[in-house]
Amino acid sequence: MSLGEPDFPTPAAVVEAAVSALRGGMTKYLPTAGDPQTRAAIASKLETENGIRGVTGDHVVVTAGAKHAFFLACHCLLDPPRPGHEPDEVLLPTPAWVSYAPIAQLAGGRVVEVRAGTEQGLKVTADQIRRAITPRSRLLVLNSPCNPTGQVLSREELGAIAEVVNEAAKTVAPRLLVVADEIYEKIVYAGATHTSIGSLDGVAERTVTINGLSKAFAMTGWRIGYTAMPGEEGLRVARAIETLQGQMTSNITSFVMPAIVAALRLCGGETRRMAAEFAARAELVARRLAEIPSLATVPPRGAFYAFPDVWACLGRTTRGGRVLRTASDFAAALLEEERVAIVPGEEFGAERHVRISFACAPAEIERGIDGLERFVMGLRA
Ligand code: PLP
Repeated sequence: MSLGEPDFPTPAAVVEAAVSALRGGMTKYLPTAGDPQTRAAIASKLETENGIRGVTGDHVVVTAGAKHAFFLACHCLLDPPRPGHEPDEVLLPTPAWVSYAPIAQLAGGRVVEVRAGTEQGLKVTADQIRRAITPRSRLLVLNSPCNPTGQVLSREELGAIAEVVNEAAKTVAPRLLVVADEIYEKIVYAGATHTSIGSLDGVAERTVTINGLSKAFAMTGWRIGYTAMPGEEGLRVARAIETLQGQMTSNITSFVMPAIVAALRLCGGETRRMAAEFAARAELVARRLAEIPSLATVPPRGAFYAFPDVWACLGRTTRGGRVLRTASDFAAALLEEERVAIVPGEEFGAERHVRISFACAPAEIERGIDGLERFVMGLRA
């Protein structure tokens, strides 16, 4: 229960599109940012599904996964470190995906964490973000639905954040942009809906939307992501990203381009079926976790992670005689004593939580949570 990888196969129509492109000889270099048809299909998806207006194929760069997209965006948007200059600041709501901070730091950014605990539903507020903004603020990273918290920012919550960004951009932080990682957009449930902050007035032309096919289409190994920001500035950002990618990897594998179009155009039904399955698993996990004393869990509403607070278990001793001092101790002892793998919260900037992935079969989830329950019930003072 540690991996963030859907256990479904890639939809057949996607595989077919790649195989037939390969057989058809689509094996040569392409434009670095991707072929025009694929970029147009992504632009059209962003406009019709996400309500991000004014995106054309020219605003889109196809990258080797959403991680690579974030990497490229950081290196293009953050000033490199220079002696005598304060670094650009990257506002990072935490708990957050493990890769944001190291990638932003590698690009010269100073990460400013904006923390959200269980008491506020694991979601940062617009007010917290407002208080963290300074003249050096360059990027605000948003990830909704969120890995690792499983929480989803509502349209109202994003609207309030958009207002804060818009206001700050006119006053204290004129260079501030939003980077919205929407890789889990299709996996929402329990009454939650996904909103793209790039569709909201005031920030549309300040938002670099990052997404990819890994999670929604069960395509983690294909390595497909993309970036897009509308407007004149969006074109400049796309050209910078394209230039950098041109010296890193050139285009991503050419014969997967038709597979991207097939996924976006033909596989909505399969995505919805997978999302419904994740919703059922989320319910199972939330119900089982609620029955375990000492774990405080905000029920997940998106992505495929639960993020229980294990604070009440720390300071206690396991059946095997291990004293749990940290969430890492908790995860390590659970692995040793029950053979259940989860990820400790420290990796996400949350030292009192652990992340449980339910991207695996319900029987495995039951077995894993049985082990977790035994483990917690066996703790003594
Ligand atoms: N963004 C988030 C929030 C993720 O959780 C992950 C993968 O776990 C990624 C991006 C990486 O996606 P990709 O496989 O497209 O690089």
